[in-house]
Amino acid sequence: MEEFRSVRGFHDLLGEDTEKFNTVRQTVRRVLESHNFEEIILPVVEYAEVFQRSIGEATDIVQKEMFVFPDKKGRLLALRPEGTAGVVRAFIQHRLFALRPYTKLFYEGPMFRYERPQAGRYRQFHQVGAEVFGISDPLVDAEIINISYKILKELKIDCTVEINSIGCRVCRPDYRKALTEYLESVAGALCEDCIDRKDRNPLRVLDCKVPACKTAVKEAPRIGDFLCEECEKHRRELTDYLNSMGIPYVENPNLVRGLDYYTRTVFEMVSQELGITVIAGGRYDYLVEEMGGAPTPAVGFAVGVERLAMLVKEPVQKKPLYMVLPMGDTLHYALRVCELLRESGKRVELSYRKGGLKKQLELANRLRADYAVIVGEDEVKEENISVKNLHTGEQIKVSLKDIFSAVL
Ligand code: ATP
Ligand code: MG
Repeated sequence: MEEFRSVRGFHDLLGEDTEKFNTVRQTVRRVLESHNFEEIILPVVEYAEVFQRSIGEATDIVQKEMFVFPDKKGRLLALRPEGTAGVVRAFIQHRLFALRPYTKLFYEGPMFRYERPQAGRYRQFHQVGAEVFGISDPLVDAEIINISYKILKELKIDCTVEINSIGCRVCRPDYRKALTEYLESVAGALCEDCIDRKDRNPLRVLDCKVPACKTAVKEAPRIGDFLCEECEKHRRELTDYLNSMGIPYVENPNLVRGLDYYTRTVFEMVSQELGITVIAGGRYDYLVEEMGGAPTPAVGFAVGVERLAMLVKEPVQKKPLYMVLPMGDTLHYALRVCELLRESGKRVELSYRKGGLKKQLELANRLRADYAVIVGEDEVKEENISVKNLHTGEQIKVSLKDIFSAVL
């Protein structure tokens, strides 16, 4: 019979890839917890409308990339393509705004997008993301960028911080008009998608990856020249904060992001090595209101875990492995030794194989153990263990009563 294969775009993670993946997750979680973010565990499935309404009907995600399916009663559900919409839905549903003056949440887990699979682009991928609700001060935008910057620094990944402001309800319409007029004038050079985008969602054209479109928008009007006073002040204060925090950044006037809900600050961390975006985020001051809540300013970001994992050179080292090898009739004693070693914080495995010392040591080596803990009949009698360093060959005896204090 033919073997089963995993579905295209859906991957298993094994061995070192898993270690790198977890190194990223744990680093992100640690940094977020140090900034007092609380975890929210969200469902993978929402009503499709949650995403259509928030991400925007005219975006690639909603138009082409969502896994949408009817349930048995015909309601349209979707596998989540991103995390923010679900957090906002939960923020409103649980009246979180009433519990605290402001709210800081993070989430993690798989996201699903029906994209063309390629390196760093999968149909199931993972994000860790964070959101702050209730503060419009650019201090929070700066905190979110600072968190992203620290994550990359801890992971020793070289990135450029790109920022932009995409304005607000006051100033964006004027810009949109100017941009649409410009795009009309270069329409001949645009790809088919962008011909459609220029009327429905012209800012999206700035984000198109087709080389011809990238060239065509080089001379496009810049949002920076259209910002209203409030947006300009927000932008200036944000860059002041970043400067005083010592975070290097470049202002990219064409940075717009692939989701409709952003206002003012948008940012991306771009890997120099691979030329891809690994962390992205921004402010979305109207989204809570657009999803049925009270007007609430908000800002957040999402980390692409696989993309960062690709760039991790050295995953966090696992603890050394102690392999306990019972010889002869010593299994019960060996089990006790295993538990004592684990209680003292060690990573321990009991050999499931039977056999003499040579065979057992061979097994320990094949399982890449760092230490062999030899438990023979002598050790049982003397109430001790023999610990052999498998890298140096050095062997010492340790009394059971000293197991917690001994340097093994
Ligand atoms: P891109 O422009 O690369 O398509 P995006 O703008 O769609 O990215 P976001 O929706 O902002 O990405 O998601 C935030 C991060 O999640 C991205 O910066 C990236 O690291 C990661 N990401 C997005 N889509 C995928 C995917 N299909 N596979 C793997 N990682 C992804
Ligand atoms: Mg995308």
